[in-house]
Amino acid sequence: MAGFDLAIVGAGIVGLAHAFAAAKRGKRVVVIDRDAQANGASVRNFGFVTVTGQGAGDCWSLAFRSRDVWAEVVAKAGIEVVQHGLVLAARLTESQAVIDAFLKTEMGAACRRLSTSEAQAIVPALKDGAAVSALYSPHEIRVESKTAIPLLTKFLAEQYGVTFQWNTSVTAVEPPRIVTSRGVVEAEAVIICPGDDFTALFPERIAAYGVTRCKLQMLRVSPAQPVKFGAAVMSDLGLGRYLGYAELPEAEALKARLDRDLAPERANGIHLIVTQSADGSLVVGDSHHYATTPDPFSSDRVDDLMLAEMDRVLDLPGRTVSEHWIGTYASAKNWRFTDRPADSIRIAIVTSGCGASTAFGIGEETIKDLYGSVS
Ligand SMILES: Cc1cc2nc3c(=O)[nH]c(=O)nc-3n(C[C@H](O)[C@H](O)[C@H](O)COP(=O)(O)OP(=O)(O)OC[C@H]3O[C@@H](n4cnc5c(N)ncnc54)[C@H](O)[C@@H]3O)c2cc1C
Repeated sequence: MAGFDLAIVGAGIVGLAHAFAAAKRGKRVVVIDRDAQANGASVRNFGFVTVTGQGAGDCWSLAFRSRDVWAEVVAKAGIEVVQHGLVLAARLTESQAVIDAFLKTEMGAACRRLSTSEAQAIVPALKDGAAVSALYSPHEIRVESKTAIPLLTKFLAEQYGVTFQWNTSVTAVEPPRIVTSRGVVEAEAVIICPGDDFTALFPERIAAYGVTRCKLQMLRVSPAQPVKFGAAVMSDLGLGRYLGYAELPEAEALKARLDRDLAPERANGIHLIVTQSADGSLVVGDSHHYATTPDPFSSDRVDDLMLAEMDRVLDLPGRTVSEHWIGTYASAKNWRFTDRPADSIRIAIVTSGCGASTAFGIGEETIKDLYGSVS
């Protein structure tokens, strides 16, 4: 018998979610990563587990399921939920029709419209006029990814006996042999969760999905005065970008207005997300630029556009920027894929910016496909 039931390549959130789903079924799991700890998209993101706004269909339903798994895991793993919910502040006339239409969909069932003062009661820093009305969603949770991912890793190791093999590149997958830079690991099945590494394993199969990379710029903003964000904040630009809103027919007029009035923001794929950390600082983003190998440089102009949108929405006098970073994620026409090179091998890649929000649901789906339903 092989040493492990299942080997997982990649210790980002997608790999960890698969490890969790398998370990809950009593499988002996090893997770192998080339770095000393997760260092990719999974620790560079907002940690914003977003349900409302995800594309209708499996993206929204897997996000909904993943949010419930996150809620189960955070308590057990000692991960702090630093924020709940979303206030999408809309100042443009065209946005009102999009919010109305969204609230009539199945996805809008638990959401509601807020007046300016109701929105300001949750986020006092919202400027008058920035939220002529707002969409409120109760579903979202926000964790601090740079600490949450290590805590999730520790939880899987300590509570479920998952083995982690770090500083180890996987170079070939032929179950029960997994060839690595540090020798052969034996496992009966393998799930490859490589994030945006498309060339190390099964490159032709991954290329068939039309993958590229998306580069994002992110900022940490420190308010000069203590300010409490009772929910994450988005703006009209989010209604024009998140597919759960942007694919509604009512969004056409808004997108045309945004393309006209906020052309540089739209050209740089900017939409506003502001989340708050436990120390009161704000994680602010983001931009989207696509390339096979994006350059590693952070542009001041792009940062300034993001900050200008933040300042249109939020009153934060004397705020300063304390950190800048970039991240990349896999991108393709469809939002994710699970490929099956052999009966005992799967490749699971989220090809859009929602892996933190959907990974737990995808993990359960892949494990069910591999091992069947739980009787
Ligand atoms: C700036 C930014 C903001 C984002 N915001 C959000 C958000 O608010 N909400 C949301 O839901 N999503 C968000 N996302 C997207 C989300 O972070 C990603 O979809 C998700 O983290 C992808 O997880 P992953 O495990 O597939 O990839 P990664 O986190 O990149 O992990 C892949 C791992 O695989 C390892 N690996 C690859 N190949 C090999 C190999 N051959 N051998 C060994 N190890 C290997 C790598 O070392 C890496 O650790 C954001 C992304 C970025 C960059």
